Amino acid sequence: MARLSLTQIAKVIDAKTIGRSPEQMISRLLLDSRKAQGFDETLYFALRGKNHDGHRYVEDLVERGQQFFVLEKSPETVYEDCQYLIVKNSLEALQKLAAYVRKHSQATIIGITGSNAKTIVKEWLFQLLDTSYKVRKSPLSYNSQIGVPLSIWNLGEADEVGIFEAGISEPYEMAKLEKMIRPNLGIFTNLGSAHAINFSSIEQKLDEKLILFKNCEKLIYCQDQENCHSAIEAFAKKHKIDLVAWSKTNIKAALYISEIVKTQKVARIQAVYQDQKLFFTIPFTDDASIENALHASLAALVCGAEPGSVQNNMERLEPVAMRLEMKEGRQGNIIINDAYNSDLESLPVALDFLDQQSGDRKKVLILSDILQSGLDNTQLYREVERIVKAHSIDELVTIGPKTQSYNWSLKISIRSFGSTAQFLKEAYGLKYHDSALMLKGARVFEFEKIGKWFEEKSHQTVMEIRLENVVHNLNYFRAKLKPGVKMMAMVKAFSYGSGAYQIASLLEFHKLDYLAVAYTDEGVELRKAGVNLPIMVLNAEPSAFKELIHYRLEPEIYSLAQLKVLVQTLSLEGANHGFPIHLKMETGMNRLGFEDFDLEDLMQFLENHNEVKVSSVFSHLASSDDEKLRAFSLIQIQRFEKMCALLKSVLNISFTQHLLNSSGINNFPDQQYDMVRLGIGLYGVSSDNNERQHLRHVSVLKAHVSQIKYVSVGESVGYNRAFVAEKATKIAVISIGYADGFRRSLGNGVGEVVIRNARYRVVGNVCMDMTMIDVSGSDVEAGDAVEIFGDNLSVYEVASKMQTIPYEVLTSISQRVKRVYVME
Ligand SMILES: *Cc1c(COP(=O)(O)O)cnc(C)c1O
Repeated sequence: MARLSLTQIAKVIDAKTIGRSPEQMISRLLLDSRKAQGFDETLYFALRGKNHDGHRYVEDLVERGQQFFVLEKSPETVYEDCQYLIVKNSLEALQKLAAYVRKHSQATIIGITGSNAKTIVKEWLFQLLDTSYKVRKSPLSYNSQIGVPLSIWNLGEADEVGIFEAGISEPYEMAKLEKMIRPNLGIFTNLGSAHAINFSSIEQKLDEKLILFKNCEKLIYCQDQENCHSAIEAFAKKHKIDLVAWSKTNIKAALYISEIVKTQKVARIQAVYQDQKLFFTIPFTDDASIENALHASLAALVCGAEPGSVQNNMERLEPVAMRLEMKEGRQGNIIINDAYNSDLESLPVALDFLDQQSGDRKKVLILSDILQSGLDNTQLYREVERIVKAHSIDELVTIGPKTQSYNWSLKISIRSFGSTAQFLKEAYGLKYHDSALMLKGARVFEFEKIGKWFEEKSHQTVMEIRLENVVHNLNYFRAKLKPGVKMMAMVKAFSYGSGAYQIASLLEFHKLDYLAVAYTDEGVELRKAGVNLPIMVLNAEPSAFKELIHYRLEPEIYSLAQLKVLVQTLSLEGANHGFPIHLKMETGMNRLGFEDFDLEDLMQFLENHNEVKVSSVFSHLASSDDEKLRAFSLIQIQRFEKMCALLKSVLNISFTQHLLNSSGINNFPDQQYDMVRLGIGLYGVSSDNNERQHLRHVSVLKAHVSQIKYVSVGESVGYNRAFVAEKATKIAVISIGYADGFRRSLGNGVGEVVIRNARYRVVGNVCMDMTMIDVSGSDVEAGDAVEIFGDNLSVYEVASKMQTIPYEVLTSISQRVKRVYVME
């Protein structure tokens, strides 16, 4: 980790200083006020984004104890204990600081980019070099304009090698990353064809990526890649870079691969490097892993690692899980599995996620010895203690001899075990319930066994929910809002099928203003899980008013009769003042709501009853997604505005006014009023083709192949012999049926699924729990994963085959299908 004085930093980033005399040392950078881990020697950079402004959190941070700030304008209040560095652009300042740290590092710096596999190549190269050198690498996939400077800051004086990955989503970004990383050695992984929205062509994308290497001495790549080989050669020539290639065809390549033999579990690779024969065995057999391992091995050799040690380490390459996974477990526990390397850098990232998702649950960290940190034990576990404290963990469980013998000074419950087996032997007696358990263990400790132990046994059909895509979609819509407009997120119907408190907690963490659910029960569940945001209940039934009041849920009020019962219940409960309600206006949907002729009685009642307070007035457009019906939407808008104006003037009150759902945000930007209600868009679905390009899908529904059947001519498949084979047919029986939400109407050739990247049709009738698929001519096997919708088959397509809309597809996936939450 770098450690510089504030004076030095001010000079590097060209800042004007406000505040007391600058002798302070800085060893930590803070960019996200929510992720503060103590404020000692910490410098906060207030960054401004499209829909985010770090300056908003300065006051709050001062209150919590933060003292040192990089800001783009002088603070309104200058506090005595604080010091402020004022710059033109905070992000540029951060990047300058990183470039400075890089420049003063003695380490060999390796920069990795390409379309895929950057993180895996980085991690594997680390695994290959770590036994010979002191290596620093970026945590997880910290490869952005912000992630890269944070990673570089971690470079320490003693580090001999630094490995950083660079990722870009827009043109011109790579030049900035290059300035910071300035790699001596480059690795180009590959060029994919996916996701080129912001680039005009695949060539432009490649040119942009190669900028990372323009000051490199050497560049490693695979010469057999036809789509980029000549462009890379031309680039290297122009910038005088030594190309160091591996190839399966060119004997003259620096690393020539003469043979690859795959067995059931390993791949054996014969190679020639500098006239020396090498034999690699890697514990993976898929082509992508072989390619990644070869990139890493060549880079390790070029760095000077002994061929013998590279051979040995290749055999022990560990899989890299690039994301956190959360599942519900037995006894109300949730289990967050961080199968990622148990390094120090990723611990705070994992614990942030735990904070976000744990709600009121007890927070338990189950941690193995941390291997390969480059620190001595005391330094290492002192740092762990600091991180654990900053995240207010309730209990620490350590597994492994190092953590067992360390003298922990934390004032929380600590249990230590020598091994995973020992923990599992006693786990039953530990009686964990309603806790959030974070598993963070080095591979050798086999924490997956702990995960299995806590998990519910069930049906293997799962819906994967990608939380980072929810955040992406949220930010996309936030960017469309006018300043000051608030956002309510619709988390009704189990958040459109994607989860209850998991989504709500995420939104709370991202500072949403409001949530809305359909029924009181749904709101109660969120409150019980520790969600504190205000929650509106759309269909608040009088029979549940007591609960509604008790759990501070705010009802939509759509009739005077309903309002009267609410007021009665409030009086009985002793709540005599100002209970927030939301008035729903009928403007054309003809569902729930007050008609204009109801308003006089309503207003009279409200004037005489202080038990309730009108928090907001709203209505709902019947066809905000339909351009052809725009005229009708405009009539609704007119009616709504008139009703609001009347309520305002007669009652002489102010309230929040809101009308737009997801498609309304796009189609009626002038009617955002004070708040919008985001629903389906949050989950990555839009009726607008252009908008679809910008959203990311959140759910992936997956089943698996239970059995393979070979059916001969004349034999039938399934109920009522709906399919009869006209030729020999290979059938895959898959683990999903209409009880899971895979509709019966998808039977008999209508529905399709994706197995091993190819599409196959449903044959015969869909059963309750199973479906049969024609996989003739394929090498599909039992156990293969089956995508129902997600990455290769869109929910739009499935909806259209079912003759319905994506809303219905998503919300009708049954609760018995387990949701697995992932965060990259
Ligand atoms: C469900 C709902 C929304 C959200 O609609 P989307 O089309 O999913 O954005 C907004 N307002 C009300 C009243 C709703 O019931």
